[in-house]
Amino acid sequence: MASMPIIPITLIRNTPAAATPHTLLARWGLAMRRHQRAIAALQWVVVVFYFSLLIYPALMPLPTEEARIVDNLRLFAQFVFWGIWWPFVMLGTMLMGRVWCGVFCPEGALTELASRHGLGRPIPRWLRWSGWPFVAFVCTTVYGQLISVYEYPQAALLVLGGSTVAAVLVGLVYGRGSRVWCRYLCPANGVFGLLAKIAPLHFKVDEARWQQDKRHGHAVNCAPLINIRHMKSASACHACGRCSGEHGAVALSLRSPASEILATDPREAKTGEAMTLLLGVIGIATAAFTWSSSARFVQGKTALADWLMAHDAWALLQDNAPWWLLTHYPNAHDVFTWLDGLCILAFILGGGGALGLTVWAGIWLAARVLRDQAVSWQKLALSLVPMAGAGVFLGLSMLTIGHLKSEGLNLSWVPALRATLLTLATGFSAYLMLRMCLTRISQRTLAGLTLALLPLGLIVRVWLWVLFAL
Ligand code: SF4
Repeated sequence: MASMPIIPITLIRNTPAAATPHTLLARWGLAMRRHQRAIAALQWVVVVFYFSLLIYPALMPLPTEEARIVDNLRLFAQFVFWGIWWPFVMLGTMLMGRVWCGVFCPEGALTELASRHGLGRPIPRWLRWSGWPFVAFVCTTVYGQLISVYEYPQAALLVLGGSTVAAVLVGLVYGRGSRVWCRYLCPANGVFGLLAKIAPLHFKVDEARWQQDKRHGHAVNCAPLINIRHMKSASACHACGRCSGEHGAVALSLRSPASEILATDPREAKTGEAMTLLLGVIGIATAAFTWSSSARFVQGKTALADWLMAHDAWALLQDNAPWWLLTHYPNAHDVFTWLDGLCILAFILGGGGALGLTVWAGIWLAARVLRDQAVSWQKLALSLVPMAGAGVFLGLSMLTIGHLKSEGLNLSWVPALRATLLTLATGFSAYLMLRMCLTRISQRTLAGLTLALLPLGLIVRVWLWVLFAL
């Protein structure tokens, strides 16, 4: 099996060069570099917090009817993990890049630590396959729904804990002081990489200035294995600040949220990335958020169950699957039959897949009609990143709202906030499409834009139905 050198190391010097622009943000970036020990300490605090909330609630009994988030650790952990952590990490990535990965993530910290003391093997070719982010994202999303990861701490321990163990094992075997897991295998890597593209905050590299600086440096490691000097995208950058100020060419900076996507070279817009966006985030994830509240899902499942009973076929109506395969909590009166499991799979993979493929078809057709070398379908698909990001946030925040509702809080402001977010995301995606398609006014560009707007309209339609039953 082919392999590559252990860690592509970028030569960077310890002391940032004086030519770095000293804006407040750039200075903040430099401070991040100077205070790496403080960042490491913060990561260990998160590690302890993470394990406490992951392990202890799984050993606790079911909460009583009267239990509240503030007085029951199990409910508290559920709320923190799924009501706050996930939605706000997504939102944070859209606003500040992958700061979560570089500064807070316990899995990243653990895999990097393991890789410092591990075998340091070269990264094999199979591990660098660009389809892993999509496969890992879909598998985790679907499996999480089958075992009700949002509701039960045992399921959360299995999914999140399993991912953490895998991250440590990968760190122990591959790379040296790096985050091979985060770069190639983390189930959230694909989504984070997409959302970071629209972050106004990023570590900007001035390649020309870097080139002009002839002073020698010593090797410093960029944990997600980025060739910093040529870095143009915030997708893979963990925003850890370690390279801030390097050669006077790297600075934490502000940019237009549209700039990275509009400036993407069509050859650099990859099919794997586009399919993660269309099939994974827009298709599968949306279906995963909505199956449990779908009346059609219930109708279809009931019809199938009636049909099976009428034909005396009981095997699929059994509820004897173990909890780690299908939800099985008899004490909570929450048990999935094999039919439930199959219907969930069909809804998420079939329904989500159909949505994703329909959106892809519209985008592909629009790119064909445009016939513009500067706009491949993969690049045009990136215009849907704002909409996909808003969808993920809105979908995950449905859990937050559910938790807050059961606490008896007044949530009358929620519909207005949801409508605002949906409008902003739709406007942003439409703007990106407009900029990519309407390079000049012609029948062809207008037709291309119209075709591109259709899948955007479809996604909006789905969310209007999910959030407002319209
Ligand atoms: S390029 Fe690498 S070292 Fe620099 S901020 Fe991003 S992740 Fe950190």
